[in-house]
Amino acid sequence: MFKALLVEKNDEGKTSASVAQVSEDQLPEGDVTVAVEYSTVNYKDGLCIGPGGGLVRNYPHVPGIDFAGTVESSDDARYKPGDKVVLTGWRVGENRWGGYAEKARVKADMLVPLPEGLDTRQAMAVGTAGLTAMLAVMALEDQGLKDGPVLVTGAAGGVGSVATALLAKLGHEVAAVTGRPEQEGYLKGLGASQIVARDDLSDVSKKPLEAEQWGGCVDAVAGSMLGRVLKQMQYGSSVAAIGLAGGAAIEGALITPFILRGVNLLGIDSVMQPYDNRVRAWKRIARDLPMDKLEAMVQPAVLSDLPQLGRDILKGQVKGRVVVDVT
Ligand code: NDP
Repeated sequence: MFKALLVEKNDEGKTSASVAQVSEDQLPEGDVTVAVEYSTVNYKDGLCIGPGGGLVRNYPHVPGIDFAGTVESSDDARYKPGDKVVLTGWRVGENRWGGYAEKARVKADMLVPLPEGLDTRQAMAVGTAGLTAMLAVMALEDQGLKDGPVLVTGAAGGVGSVATALLAKLGHEVAAVTGRPEQEGYLKGLGASQIVARDDLSDVSKKPLEAEQWGGCVDAVAGSMLGRVLKQMQYGSSVAAIGLAGGAAIEGALITPFILRGVNLLGIDSVMQPYDNRVRAWKRIARDLPMDKLEAMVQPAVLSDLPQLGRDILKGQVKGRVVVDVT
């Protein structure tokens, strides 16, 4: 038996989450069993700890879309007991049991070896949010970042915090958009040189274009903010779209930024990201993300904190990155 955060659904269809003992034979099929050390909290975890948001099909369920730990047993030649591993994505924690437990079983293809230079706790301070931020920065680099400030929206959130720290470390001027003015000190500490109030970018503009300002953008918000930001991008620059914290549509968007300024909208997905690019991104994280800045983002937690943290992240009230010690 081992400890897990178990989400159960009653006859009325209402879900409840609590720490429970579960047995190893309840784990899903897979070729690698991992003794999980740390997990984290992403927006999707908030959905899966609560009513599921359409992501969870079967109950009882163990959420946790990310984990890091040590291989306990393996039927796959790529992994042996004692190896340190990281898992993000592949719908683990959604359609199969995830990382909010002392043990997890997955397919070997879903794992990535823990990159040199990171321990399992730091890997979960990064988690899906940090990996996504790195994938976004890599996509902007591949496309070519222009001179001038790089805008990060949803900056005090998980993806935004890591994106801010990474871009600043790489020598870019970072303009951080936040709806929480009290987080100015935190964001400047991560390396932002300019704070933009969320309200300044929230209104839909009828103008086809606005003054060119941003040399690149990592956007976690979408909604009316992305519609607005696209009109302010410099000629030939790119926006890496990673999230929808402000809505699933791009409100007020026009074709003009694309056809008159050659602006690029780059879609970033971390869940099904191919193995080689995952390994490339984790290596870049170990090299380029300042570990003192990562530590400044961390809020420690244990399994029993998760029901509340799940509610908080859905309301946009979690700052930076939560690291859950599952043991
Ligand atoms: P967080 O909740 O940690 O951060 C989101 C941030 O967005 C908030 O902290 C807040 O920042 C801002 N925000 C929230 N609500 C609104 C709103 N209504 N209008 C404008 N800004 C808002 O989440 P994550 O950073 O973990 O994830 C961000 C988004 O990215 C989510 O939509 C998530 O589903 C998605 N995602 C996508 C991935 C992918 O593979 N593409 C992977 C991981 C996440 P502030 O307070 O600073 O304004």
